Amino acid sequence: MGDADCLFCGIVERRIPAEIVHEDPAVVAFKDIHPQAPTHLLFVPRTHLSGPGQLTGPQASVAQDLLGAATRTAERFGLDRSGYRLVLNQGRDGGQTVGHLHVHLLGGRPLGWPPG
Ligand code: AMP
Ligand code: ZN
Repeated sequence: MGDADCLFCGIVERRIPAEIVHEDPAVVAFKDIHPQAPTHLLFVPRTHLSGPGQLTGPQASVAQDLLGAATRTAERFGLDRSGYRLVLNQGRDGGQTVGHLHVHLLGGRPLGWPPG
């Protein structure tokens, strides 16, 4: 069971609606509600981890699960030729607003660098 107060645990457990685009035993992916690019998806572990800072020790394999799902889904969305960006935000200065680890997949337009 996830955290009752966590938005993304709510999506994983289907208590909160979302447009789910991928599911596997470790990961759920859904469309970002405020898309910043033509394709903007979020990949979250079914297990509640607060952010990328928790991807250590026994949880390190979760990074592999998330990145594997994100890259395969990018191919499925036809982004592998044009390119795409994966983003993990950690904490206040990183711009993290939801305290459940998530990988952003952004694509479908040229993306500026460096980020703001
Ligand atoms: P971050 O700023 O890295 O924590 O990213 C959180 C992301 O979650 C933002 O891009 C939001 O637009 C997105 N978001 C917030 N609420 C929802 C929701 N209910 N369904 C889908 N995406 C959401
Ligand atoms: Zn959670």
